[in-house]
Amino acid sequence: MNPIPEHARPADPRWAVEFQALARGLVIAGAKGKIIERFTDLPHRKVSELYKALRGFTPPTGPVTQGSVRQFAVPSNHISPEWIIQCAIFMACYERMGKFTAERLHRGWQLLTTFNGYLSLTDKLSQTTSVKQLDINQAYALMSFCGFMTSSAGVELQRTVCPVCSIKYPVVAGEELARQHCPVCTVSATGPSLSRTDCASDSEDTPLKPA
Ligand SMILES: [Zn+2]
Repeated sequence: MNPIPEHARPADPRWAVEFQALARGLVIAGAKGKIIERFTDLPHRKVSELYKALRGFTPPTGPVTQGSVRQFAVPSNHISPEWIIQCAIFMACYERMGKFTAERLHRGWQLLTTFNGYLSLTDKLSQTTSVKQLDINQAYALMSFCGFMTSSAGVELQRTVCPVCSIKYPVVAGEELARQHCPVCTVSATGPSLSRTDCASDSEDTPLKPA
């Protein structure tokens, strides 16, 4: 799939093929209808037709972003540190994909390409352990909390660098950092060690910028 730059528009015939590929890719990834409509300007009816043709069912419905920011950063009875590591890996992959070209990338293209790369990177770990991977709608929500769809202030999710293992992990902005422990060090202290991935080991200490 050719990269789509930020300035490209779906109505522009020069980019029609790339946006069709983006729509198909998002359908195959299982994105909600509203996300596909947002990124490709396809009408709801067209997205439904594409879903039925490629998947045999109608697109998942519901709001584009569900849940709260805490489900991506704060361990609880329902949120494991392993899950937060998955979020950290996705965020690192998204950032790295943004450096792929000098030109800023279309957010939908960057989301889908990052998602496909993230899946191949984490497939083995997911198959050999019970660690759940993010789905594309969770990835969209995660990036939305990082200011992915807006450039305005008030980003709810940021990253911080662990001084021990050096990975960057998500933290809830405005909450005390001392209470938001590194998920990798937590897992290392309490369970089987997780090998770091190339993406997660990005050592540059830069905040995640909206695309
Ligand atoms: Zn750590």
